[in-house]
Amino acid sequence: MTIRIYDTAARKKRVFHPQDPARVTMYVCGPTVYNYAHIGNARPPIVFDVLRRLLMRVYGEDAVIYARNITDIEDKIIKASVETGEPIETITKKFAQIYNADTAALNVLAPGIEPWATDHVGEMIEMIEKLVRKRYAYVGKEGVWFSVNSMPDYGKLSGRKLEDNEAGARVAVDEDKLDPADFALWKFAKEGEPEDAIWDSPWGRGRPGWHIECSAMAAKHLGKTIDIHGGGIDLQFPHHENEIAQSECAHGEIMANYWMHNGFLDMGGEKMSKSLGNVVLVHELLKQWHGEVLRFAMLSGHYRAPLDWTEDLLKQAKTTLDRIYGALRRVWDAEGGEVDDRGVFDALCDDLNTPEALASLSRIAGEANMAADKGDTDAMATARANLLDAGEMLGLLTLTPKAWEQGGDDDGNDRINGLVQARIDARAAKDWAEADRIRDQLAAEGIEIMDGAGGSTWRRI
Ligand code: AMP
Ligand code: ZN
Repeated sequence: MTIRIYDTAARKKRVFHPQDPARVTMYVCGPTVYNYAHIGNARPPIVFDVLRRLLMRVYGEDAVIYARNITDIEDKIIKASVETGEPIETITKKFAQIYNADTAALNVLAPGIEPWATDHVGEMIEMIEKLVRKRYAYVGKEGVWFSVNSMPDYGKLSGRKLEDNEAGARVAVDEDKLDPADFALWKFAKEGEPEDAIWDSPWGRGRPGWHIECSAMAAKHLGKTIDIHGGGIDLQFPHHENEIAQSECAHGEIMANYWMHNGFLDMGGEKMSKSLGNVVLVHELLKQWHGEVLRFAMLSGHYRAPLDWTEDLLKQAKTTLDRIYGALRRVWDAEGGEVDDRGVFDALCDDLNTPEALASLSRIAGEANMAADKGDTDAMATARANLLDAGEMLGLLTLTPKAWEQGGDDDGNDRINGLVQARIDARAAKDWAEADRIRDQLAAEGIEIMDGAGGSTWRRI
């Protein structure tokens, strides 16, 4: 089997070859945690969750090492802290937890590694020191800057040339920088900034720039060269371009072998974004729709294409899922069948073609209905196996048909995902007693947690 993915850097689909099939590494830029995520923010976690599931299937569950960071230091967080008077940590812990609960409700598997930026300031400083030593960076009055002119192939990911920037003359001339496109590796603390936003460094007190966070955390947890780096298309420039500059100049190695970017989720014909004010929060949507409906709607478009988020899209997703769960109900008792359908798998191997994968899922549901109409128990068992297998790849059909009909009540997996996440948090906090308690509670309900290097998943036994 061959997986093809569209590599933004190469501007074409390429066959995926991991450096080491026993250790496939993925890094996806995670949220800045200071308020609720909107459904546009949920596109990257869902899309890259589908990719992760595919890679786990091909290379083995433990072979996929997936890191998604938490940005817990950033201008907007500081602003929120100053405005509310709450310590930064109170804000970031609260919203990271909400983000994880929201994404868990969308059947996004918890990342195997969730590095927090503020836990890695030491690694960031080391990296900046290396860049200064190698003369890729210099110290100004406002901070430490990366010199874009010091890197001959700066701009290779986005295809932007430095002259383009200057010709546009959008970037204001800044006396502290050698070039207007130079970006901050370290920002010196300004008068009146809260103490919990300030760290010591060899150059002066302050905080790291946003881009260096990801470079330092990806290198620490996954290695200097990672297989796949992902995020939303708005991150291609400048964030990912700058990650490449920092990592490749510091390490002398390629940062990522494949770059993947999801397109925008639009609403009312424009990118959903806080600044435009056209956002709907995942948290709010989940009150009205089951997480699988939102996930199905998200996957109904190809990840690289823009997707228009409308009420109709959600209604359509709900109707289709009802039909598929209805078919599953009819074959539910026909256990023991063997999977013989590759439609969803093949579609996903072709650059995550989820619209085609969902079409295959509907086709299999049709086959289940046909088998049930005929009373062909063998065909029913096969259709059941195929439906559940396809569902697992897409992160759908995780409820029993009965629970779905009941509106995904307490027997549904939101609660289980929440408990699995609570156990991950307990383990991270080294609260082994609590982690074991949750495992035992779930085991008593017939849920087995599977821990692997790639994270924790669960199944009904
Ligand atoms: P932000 O909170 O803006 O830093 O975004 C967090 C993540 O969500 C980034 O990976 C963005 O690329 C992604 N993102 C933000 N808005 C959208 C949108 N409307 N559609 C798709 N992805 C988005
Ligand atoms: Zn990043």
